[in-house]
Amino acid sequence: MDAALAALLDEVAGDLGRGRGKLVILTGAGLSADSGLPTFRGPGGYWTVGSQVHHPEEIATRAAWNAIPDEVWRFTARLLRAVAGGAPNAGHRAIAELDRRFGERCVTVTQNVDGYHLRAGNHPDRVYAIHGDGGFVRCGADCCFDLLPRPASVLADDFDPSADPHLRCPRCRDLLRPHALFFDEYYSEPLYRSESALEAAREAALLLVVGTAGATTLPNLIAREAVEAGAAVIDVNPADDPFAELARALRRGHWVRDTAAAALPAIAARLIARDAPAVIHPST
Ligand SMILES: [Zn+2]
Repeated sequence: MDAALAALLDEVAGDLGRGRGKLVILTGAGLSADSGLPTFRGPGGYWTVGSQVHHPEEIATRAAWNAIPDEVWRFTARLLRAVAGGAPNAGHRAIAELDRRFGERCVTVTQNVDGYHLRAGNHPDRVYAIHGDGGFVRCGADCCFDLLPRPASVLADDFDPSADPHLRCPRCRDLLRPHALFFDEYYSEPLYRSESALEAAREAALLLVVGTAGATTLPNLIAREAVEAGAAVIDVNPADDPFAELARALRRGHWVRDTAAAALPAIAARLIARDAPAVIHPST
C-alpha cells in the first residue's frame, strides 16, 4: 500500500477510534461492475418497445410508468435477472467487514439498486439506498410508502406484469412498481434516506467514495457536506472522476486508482487494524 494512503488511513482510524466522526462509504456502479453487472448507462441499458429504441433515461421514468407500466417492468426485470445471476464481490465484502467492525460509526450510502450490500452482510439499518433497491416493490399509485419484498414471479421467463396477482398493492390493488428512483423523480427521506445520508456526511471523519462517477446531485452534495465538515476523502476508482479531483485537492485526500475489488480489502483491513484496540485485561 502507498505510504501516504497508509498514513491517512491510520490518522482516520485514530479519529474513529476516539469517537470523532463517522466512516461514510459512498458507492456507485463501479463497485458492482466488478461483479460483472452491466452498467445501467452503458449500451446494455437500451430497451426496445415496438420499433423504438429507448435509453434508460426515457424508460425508467415516472412518465413511462404512467403510460406503459408493463414495459417499465419488463425493462426492470431484465436488470434484476442480471443482478440475481451475479453476486457481491471482494469490494462489497470488505465494506461489510467495515460495517461489522465500526457498527453505528459506519454508514453505507449506495446509488446501486442491486441490493449487494445487504447480501454481503451489511446491517440494513446502516445502508441508505438513495436510488432504491430492486429487491423491493411498492405501490405504483403512491397510496403508501410500504416496501414489500419483490415477488419471485418478476424473474420468471413468462413474467406478465399487469396479469401478475403478486404485483398488486395490498392496500389499493393498484400495480406495484419497482422500488427505484426514476430519472424524473426526486429524492426523499421516507423512501430513499436522502436526508439521513446528508446528515451522515456532516458527521464524517472519512468519506470513502467507491466506483461512482458523480453524475447525480445527491452524491455531490454528500461530498460537499463532508468536506465542509473537515472529513478526509478517499476515492477508489480506476478512472478519474470529480471525487478523485476533490481528493487530490485536499491535504487529507487520496485517489486510489484501482478497482474496488482490488483495493478495498487492504483499505478495510488497515482501518480495522488501527481502530482503537480493545483493552485486554490480564486474566485474574
Ligand atoms: Zn396502493
